[in-house]
Amino acid sequence: MYDIIIVGAGPAGLTSALYALRARKKVLILEANTCGGQIVSAHRVENYPGIESISGADFAKQLYQQVKKLGAEIKYETAIHVSEDKVVTTNEGEYQGRSVILATGAKNRKLNIENEQEFVGKGVSYCATCDGGFYKNKVVAVNGGGNTALEDALYLADIAKKVYLIHRRDTFRGEEKYAHELREKENVTFILNATVTAINGKEQLESITIQQKEEEKELKIDGLFIAIGQEPKNEMFANVVEINESGYIVSPDGVHTKVDGIYVAGDSQVKVLRQLTTAVSDGSVAATIAIKEMAEQAKELEENEKKNPKK
Ligand code: NAP
Repeated sequence: MYDIIIVGAGPAGLTSALYALRARKKVLILEANTCGGQIVSAHRVENYPGIESISGADFAKQLYQQVKKLGAEIKYETAIHVSEDKVVTTNEGEYQGRSVILATGAKNRKLNIENEQEFVGKGVSYCATCDGGFYKNKVVAVNGGGNTALEDALYLADIAKKVYLIHRRDTFRGEEKYAHELREKENVTFILNATVTAINGKEQLESITIQQKEEEKELKIDGLFIAIGQEPKNEMFANVVEINESGYIVSPDGVHTKVDGIYVAGDSQVKVLRQLTTAVSDGSVAATIAIKEMAEQAKELEENEKKNPKK
């Protein structure tokens, strides 16, 4: 039996493991793909307090090594079910925990067009706050019409020489307040009723192709920020957590779920800010609370046994 089973080895899950292992708990980490989560694809991380600049891949590697040194057990298996009794079923087996931390994160929705994956870190980004700083006085485009895209465009307008905001409709899903602020910016141009159909370049992004009504045109840009929403994957936990209409886990305090001993950490839940800083914060809090509540439960059991000794 494991003290804590952590589902997901992104920054939230690995930080939970770090705290649990330092408290000498028996920990199992389950990861469907590779350790590190979304941060692995961040070109540079320059907004993590105390670290001036690091690549996302290096950050993830160091966190992974830190956890491995403490003796973490990691199984590369996909969790498909968690029971109220804290049995986690994967594609390969079943594991019993005293508590479970769900830290499966969310993935950026992809355009699914040619070169999108190849050019991540070479002109294509899913995170303006992470990578925007690299486009000082350059020409960038943001694709999307939600609050993330509008906020990204505002953020980039203060850094880049020129920002194109490309959206597939002529009204925004995001708040009018942001759209209004963007209209006031001299270096922002809206390209509406338009979709990005191709990402072009040799070694690095050089231009994108846009389909606008019947017309197809090429736009020369240095950076493309894709902000077309995120996709959490929580359906397999629906029996133990509450999930909102967008697929995110609803927690009353950012830690607990509707089942005692099952916790949530990181981007898979409803939250104000999805960043590396908030993910590691969530991970440390979830592990600390899990440890505290397991200790309280053990104490309660001991007291009950003292009051009602087994004959
Ligand atoms: P979102 O609200 O789901 O918006 C996604 C946008 O991308 C929509 O405009 C959508 O277009 C477009 N889109 C989706 N798939 C597309 C595709 N394949 N090709 C082109 N465009 C596509 O996502 P989000 O902006 O990341 O926001 C997620 C949640 O976080 C929202 O609830 C948002 O309000 C919240 N948020 C809040 C704040 C804030 O309050 N400050 C900041 C950021 C995010 P359609 O509109 O045509 O569907």
